[in-house]
Amino acid sequence: MSQEFDFTDHSHRRFNPLTDSWILVSPHRAKRPWLGQQETPMKSTAPEYDEKCFLCPGNKRVTGGSNPKYESTYIFQNDFAAVKTDQPDLQVQNSGKDTLKDRLIKVEGVRGNCFVICFSPKHNVTIPQMSIPALEHVVGAWQTLYNDLAKQARDDHKPFKYLQIFENKGTAMGCSNLHPHGQAWCLSEVPSEVSQEFRSFDKYKHAHGADLLGDYVKLEMEERSRIVLENDSFLVVVPYWAVWPFETMIVAKTKVANIAQFSEKQKHDLAEMMKHLTVKYDNLFETSFPYSMGLHQAPLNATGDELDNAWFHMHFYPPLLRSATVRKFLVGFEMLGEPQRDLTAEQAADRLRKLDGDHHYTEKL
Ligand SMILES: [Zn+2]
Ligand SMILES: [Zn+2]
Repeated sequence: MSQEFDFTDHSHRRFNPLTDSWILVSPHRAKRPWLGQQETPMKSTAPEYDEKCFLCPGNKRVTGGSNPKYESTYIFQNDFAAVKTDQPDLQVQNSGKDTLKDRLIKVEGVRGNCFVICFSPKHNVTIPQMSIPALEHVVGAWQTLYNDLAKQARDDHKPFKYLQIFENKGTAMGCSNLHPHGQAWCLSEVPSEVSQEFRSFDKYKHAHGADLLGDYVKLEMEERSRIVLENDSFLVVVPYWAVWPFETMIVAKTKVANIAQFSEKQKHDLAEMMKHLTVKYDNLFETSFPYSMGLHQAPLNATGDELDNAWFHMHFYPPLLRSATVRKFLVGFEMLGEPQRDLTAEQAADRLRKLDGDHHYTEKL
């Protein structure tokens, strides 16, 4: 073997410093011939208002209440919340005798509240089809929720510690309602993904005296091969360690711990990045691109290291691989070994970078 190592041809593993785990990259497999079908781009035929939709303005919800005739964004408590503010205490008893149960069964109670955020009163639009000012309202709604829940935790001792804001878009991600909306689950504990990131931030700071994501932004701006979009406040990259084919991360260029700390300029800049990124996504396979996306930021009322280590960023995890209907599954080796991808992060970034981020493909239909 006298050949040189080629990252676009030879298998390697990449380390994810956020989750402290590895992913397998097999770039030669991306060269397999593709005989799949080509879809015809379609325009959504859904109406702007749907009388059967429980998220449309003025409509009745499943549990009987009804929505106001809202005109921009609208937040309400989830009728089927995964966590509740009130429930009985869970008494956990440890025998102290090192029984098998003491060793292996660990449990804790959890409280909180869940919310639905309607992005727009229009039933038939998605984030890429909304204007930047309309998306600024979405960012504003997230800020309001973050501030309100932090205040309720402080003043009324509500069991709110971490607010996970997210959107599941498309039936491929298990979202059955077309109406543009996201969710926010607020828990009395920091969920696992986030607490793992915080452990990584802390470890990095102790080792290098710097912020992990601050350093990562510097590195990406030097290397540039994984940058998809950029403005004054944010960088959009396909992370070096991306698992999903077209996974991206929107990361603040300078330290900002949470969305409540945003300046008006940062609020605008985030809306702008969300718009252009999601337009590119839709243009990639000329389809309404499904994904799960969410915000990672400081816990509510964070102080000390928790506040100091937090660095605002968003993850987009889209499942599509080659077309509107061919998606990646995390199965087999990925469930039992570790995640694997064919296309490299640099190849995915290059494809996304070259796509139009201003004009949605349906404008041309
Ligand atoms: Zn609707
Ligand atoms: Zn994160």
